[in-house]
Amino acid sequence: MIENYPGFPEGIPAARLVGRFIEHLQAVGGSVERASVERISRNDDGTYTVSTPFEADRTRAAIVATGTRPRMVAIEGARAAQGHQLFYDLLELLERAEPGERIVIYGGGDAAFDLGLNLRHRGYETAIVCRSRARCLPLLRARAERDGIRVMEGRSITRVASGERLTLELDGASPVEADRLLIACGREPRLDILEPPLGALLRSDDTYAAGVPGLYLAGDVAADGRRQVGIAVGSGINAAMLAEQYLRRR
Ligand SMILES: Cc1cc2nc3c(=O)[nH]c(=O)nc-3n(C[C@H](O)[C@H](O)[C@H](O)COP(=O)(O)OP(=O)(O)OC[C@H]3O[C@@H](n4cnc5c(N)ncnc54)[C@H](O)[C@@H]3O)c2cc1C
Repeated sequence: MIENYPGFPEGIPAARLVGRFIEHLQAVGGSVERASVERISRNDDGTYTVSTPFEADRTRAAIVATGTRPRMVAIEGARAAQGHQLFYDLLELLERAEPGERIVIYGGGDAAFDLGLNLRHRGYETAIVCRSRARCLPLLRARAERDGIRVMEGRSITRVASGERLTLELDGASPVEADRLLIACGREPRLDILEPPLGALLRSDDTYAAGVPGLYLAGDVAADGRRQVGIAVGSGINAAMLAEQYLRRR
């Protein structure tokens, strides 16, 4: 649920907002193709090659808006539990979990609280463990309290023991039992499709100066920690205008 995108005072489900963006794109003659990009590389003539498992397209300009991936945490025992009892992705967790199960979310930001509320509304018993004080929107904190989500602040998970259920050992508190653990401890830019050193060069608006004219970053992949749909949309418009100016100059 996107709570704070201008023009939607009641909030709007993310999937519906994306659907509206696609309709808008199509209305002005754009199209969406679904494929996983494996690589973007720069050619000697200044064009770029965008490779998917099916084809390699040449383009004079490209905007990379690949978002972020969850940041992995180093917890003893985590690797053995990952994929069946420990998850970084809500959809992967939902493929395994049954309503009524106890899910612990590890993290204290908006995403952790949003995920906790989402799971609570799907009929799971949820609790949130955060390493420091929760730093989510006060609105999300109030909703978690309203929905009876237990929040344990100032607690690190030091070890995960996998059995029929998970035992989560906490720093300075008694262990907690759970059926699954969902980790929401920050995110990092998803830049791995860019052939080195393109990713490092691109973190600048002036891609001429950076030596990669015609290639732009937009949205969360370019954000310095402030991840919001409104900011992502603005940075997409900025990248589109820069790309258009670049193509016109050429
Ligand atoms: C739980 C949660 C709650 C949030 N709530 C809010 C909120 O209430 N308000 C708000 O403003 N923001 C919220 N955000 C943040 C918001 O979702 C992001 O800021 C926004 O989605 C960023 O848009 P983006 O297009 O840059 O990246 P994303 O939305 O992450 O989109 C990136 C896209 O790129 C695709 N992709 C990645 N790699 C490849 C590849 N190799 N090939 C092809 N496609 C690829 C991904 O599949 C994805 O579709 C929330 C985020 C989370 C996780």
